[in-house]
Amino acid sequence: MKCNLCGEKIEVVVLDKINGTYIKKKAVCSNCQRKHKEKLIEQIK
Ligand SMILES: [Zn+2]
Repeated sequence: MKCNLCGEKIEVVVLDKINGTYIKKKAVCSNCQRKHKEKLIEQIK
């Protein structure tokens, strides 16, 4: 699985649990989760 913002690989911890989060059903790594404001993340389509 890849981050939809930076393209970094996201580790899948268990089936539905990743080292990051899902925003609008897109995977976002924990780095981007910290780094990006919600505004930026809202741009994911
Ligand atoms: Zn990322």
